[in-house]
Amino acid sequence: MFDLNKIIRSNIKALTPYSSARDEFSGQASIYLDANENPFNTGFNRYPDPMQWTVKEKIAAIKKVKKENILLGNGSDEVIDLLLRAFCEPKENNIITFPPTYGMYEVYGNINNVEIQKVSLTPDFQIDVAATLKAINPQTKLIFVCSPNNPTGGSINPEAVKQLLKSFEGIIVIDEAYADFSQQESWIGYLDIYPNLFVMQTFSKAWGLAALRMGVGYASPEIIKVLNKIKPPYNINELTQQAVLKKLESYADVQKEIEILNKEREDLAKQLTDLPIVQKVYPSDANFVLAKVNDANKTYNYLVDKGIIVRNRNTVTLCEGCIRITVGTTEENKEVINALKALK
Ligand SMILES: *Cc1c(COP(=O)(O)O)cnc(C)c1O
Repeated sequence: MFDLNKIIRSNIKALTPYSSARDEFSGQASIYLDANENPFNTGFNRYPDPMQWTVKEKIAAIKKVKKENILLGNGSDEVIDLLLRAFCEPKENNIITFPPTYGMYEVYGNINNVEIQKVSLTPDFQIDVAATLKAINPQTKLIFVCSPNNPTGGSINPEAVKQLLKSFEGIIVIDEAYADFSQQESWIGYLDIYPNLFVMQTFSKAWGLAALRMGVGYASPEIIKVLNKIKPPYNINELTQQAVLKKLESYADVQKEIEILNKEREDLAKQLTDLPIVQKVYPSDANFVLAKVNDANKTYNYLVDKGIIVRNRNTVTLCEGCIRITVGTTEENKEVINALKALK
């Protein structure tokens, strides 16, 4: 069964983390002379809260988890990197990914010199559970499931994920960057059931704050503690914490935008399907659609000439002939359709 102590790298287990001034005194005082900060008020002369408790409390209330279940990262990218550094011994351990999927799991695996075992998704973009169980070995520490998946757009069958959660002794990381656009249930409701579950979300997509760099990890307080131990102390800057807090106040507006984008996605998918150059539009739970066209390179270059940039996925295995189109405003979606109507 899952034993967190068995999967932490030994040097991380033994590590004495940096203790910042803000860690050593966290109460209220009238004079702070402990962190070598500049006393003149610039609005930003003080170090930010290293644990970001105010932001976490707000997220916890919205997502119905405890604040101790939350890790904040400088984008999901930092969260992925922290997971690899906490649990994967370079040149010894391995991770499993399911291509075609998000490229950063592999990039951070390579940066950390951790082997990547790729188990291809099936042609209908689902996990091959039998092949995955076969690929798991004693050196496997993390399995990255992206659902809804990028670049395909569809969600992964929850039954397949449950099978992996039950049989794998490492951590199953479910990247829910696009979950806000999906009708599928989020996995964060299952944290108390599966001790080896780690869910990632982000403020970069549905929340519209990609430039601020704010990723969120949800897991048991024990797993979160390990990652807190190794994260850079002030990984979320004060401007980002303030802007995210403000955005969290307007959750209702965000939900309205999600509804608009989901409706736009369905319109876009339908109009693409009706075009003669489009062979297939894959079902999407995200804010983009993957479309198989007669000639992906030609279509991509044609759109570039018109000043419209989409993502050419032609060289990605199982996505041959495909372009990925992000859902834009009504006007932008109209323009891409009109442009494609004129392409023979
Ligand atoms: C866009 C995206 C993210 C977001 O990454 P950030 O670093 O939080 O901006 C994460 N995972 C997937 C699959 C994505 O497509």
